Formats: sequence, C-alpha cells, structure tokens
Amino acid sequence: MSKWARCPGSGLPLREFTYIVRRITDEDRQEHSRLITRLEAGAQRSAERRFSDPDERAQELAELMTSIDARKRRFARWERDQGTPRQATECSVCKHPWVSATRDGRARGHKRYDSWASRAVVGSWDRVDDLMEQIKVLHGEVQRLQEEVQREMRLLDRGGE
Ligand SMILES: [Zn+2]
Repeated sequence: MSKWARCPGSGLPLREFTYIVRRITDEDRQEHSRLITRLEAGAQRSAERRFSDPDERAQELAELMTSIDARKRRFARWERDQGTPRQATECSVCKHPWVSATRDGRARGHKRYDSWASRAVVGSWDRVDDLMEQIKVLHGEVQRLQEEVQREMRLLDRGGE
C-alpha cells in the first residue's frame, strides 16, 4: 500500500472523542515568553529595516503586533482551558484529528494520518475491541434494515395478488 494512500475512513462518519486540555508546564511558559520577546524584537527590527517612512513603519509594526497579540491570546486561552475536557472529532479509521466534515458529519477524503503522523495509531487490543464494537453496531443496523426492506417487499407482494 502506498504511504500516501487515501484513508479508507474517507466518507465514513466521524467519531466524537473527549480529551483533556494539557496542563501548561513551566517549560511551556518559558518557551512562550521567550518566543514573544523574540517576535517583538524581530518585528521592531523588520519594520525599521523595511520602511524608512515613519507612517509605513508604524503600519508594518502594527500588523506584526496584531499577529503576536493573537499568539498571546491563544496562550491565554490555553491557560484558561487547561485541565478541562474538550470535545473533538476524529476519523474512525486512522484517528486523524483535523479531518473536516461534510454536511452530514462524514470525513472528507484524506490521506491516512497514521502513515505520516508522529502520533501513530498503535495496534493494540483496545483498538481492536473498539473497531469490533463499531462493526457490531453497524452490523446490527444492517440486519435491522434488511429485515425492514424484506418486510416491505412481502407486503408489496401480497398487495399485488
Ligand atoms: Zn482516516
């Protein structure tokens, strides 16, 4: 199978799962503040280098600061949300967490996540049980629908006599 083969989960319903937002460590905090310091200094330098006109320079600096502020807001949101459960969806086959959904909640066409992601889907009995459970539910639904269709066909047959 090609490494970039289309995931067989494409077109199947996405699964909901719950995860806990990771707690911020001291290291995360230091890394964030180092990054912000570096970006702010970089923005200043970049604006000075690229524009001699003070208005243009201020404009450029304002735009760069907006994206830095967005980063600060993202970190603040993480700070607020850490340790709380979040709901997300994933591909039912490869567990791709960023597959976009069609209007009826199915996975859009995508490549297998577990073939390229660092967080590979590791084979385990839990995973086997999980998939078997899905198959069992769907198989039950297939049988229910088959019986329903057969019952309707019998009724139609009788009506035709
Ligand atoms: Zn997939």
